[in-house]
Amino acid sequence: MAVFLLVFLLALVPACSPDTDPVNGDNGGDPGNGQDPDPTEPDEPDDFDFGRYQPNELGEIPVFMYHQIGTPEGTWVRTPDNFRADLQRFYDAGYRLVSLTDVFNNNIDIPAGTSPLVLTFDDGTPGHFRWLKEDGELVLDPDCAVGIIMEFARENPDMGTAATFYVNQGLLRQYDSWYTNEHHLLKLEKLVEWGMDIGNHSWTHAHLTNDIQSTEQLQRELGALQHFLSTHLPDYRIDSLALPYGSKPKEEWMEYVYQGSYQGVEYSHDVVLLVGSVPAKPPNHVGWSPRAMPRVRASNTTDSPGESPYLDQALKRLESTRYISDGDPDIITIPEHMEEFLDPDSLGDKTLRVYDPEDYKD
Ligand SMILES: [Zn+2]
Repeated sequence: MAVFLLVFLLALVPACSPDTDPVNGDNGGDPGNGQDPDPTEPDEPDDFDFGRYQPNELGEIPVFMYHQIGTPEGTWVRTPDNFRADLQRFYDAGYRLVSLTDVFNNNIDIPAGTSPLVLTFDDGTPGHFRWLKEDGELVLDPDCAVGIIMEFARENPDMGTAATFYVNQGLLRQYDSWYTNEHHLLKLEKLVEWGMDIGNHSWTHAHLTNDIQSTEQLQRELGALQHFLSTHLPDYRIDSLALPYGSKPKEEWMEYVYQGSYQGVEYSHDVVLLVGSVPAKPPNHVGWSPRAMPRVRASNTTDSPGESPYLDQALKRLESTRYISDGDPDIITIPEHMEEFLDPDSLGDKTLRVYDPEDYKD
């Protein structure tokens, strides 16, 4: 049997939905030929083109870990041109940017046939977000990470702008003499306004295994950023932590990695990111591990010992393992051979749809 719907919520969908109303049109799509447009029925579940999209919503999601954006290229440095080329490569291969918040909430809302990809940047170095002054006006440096992402999204709006910047007490620092605290705080505001996120990377970039002597110290390390934002972006909750050096505190203090408080301000992290080399499993997979989510180093340097072209290797692996969306966040579509990796308790009110790719080979 080609398709079986385990839950059939779509039975409730009306025969003709308002957005396909031939009178009201489809808000700016096909201009038509002046004749009455064909009233298009909404996609019935059976009409979904499995062969064309080959969805696999139990596939892997790459969480790429960048450090500096600048020159020259090195182990922890990606040049602006290489980062631009990375975005183009991701885009051309069918990836679209999603936030970790949406991954955590299982709200991956990208077109059918495309794949989610998460961008992360550690350490808040100046190449992440730099203001320039041109004729007295503040402009975004087109060669900083934020500038490159914004420019790419202007040319390819469906790529999106999601990215998370893991900062310490220096936030998104830069060192120009004219640069004031006001410019500094404006970065945080703009980052959020432009669809990006601020992530926690501890206050002093502490090594959580070696440097932490008490739970108070640990909560200061992990709570001071949220405490700082409580004044400057009071509605913003930091929901993810990138462990500095990938380090963890001793086992009995691990609860404070996930939540705690500092000077009366509570913090909590839904997602805790590791330093790693493999893509992450998605929310409905038995291997879903938001509290220990692996990341892939976004580097292709091979000039020092121990280096590997991690980025190339990950994209190669993902050719056969990646998450491919069905275009509908309310439906989880998986090929039959992935069913053994499904965590059925994770579905909540989502509809599960299983298909056999063999049935759609031409
Ligand atoms: Zn770091």
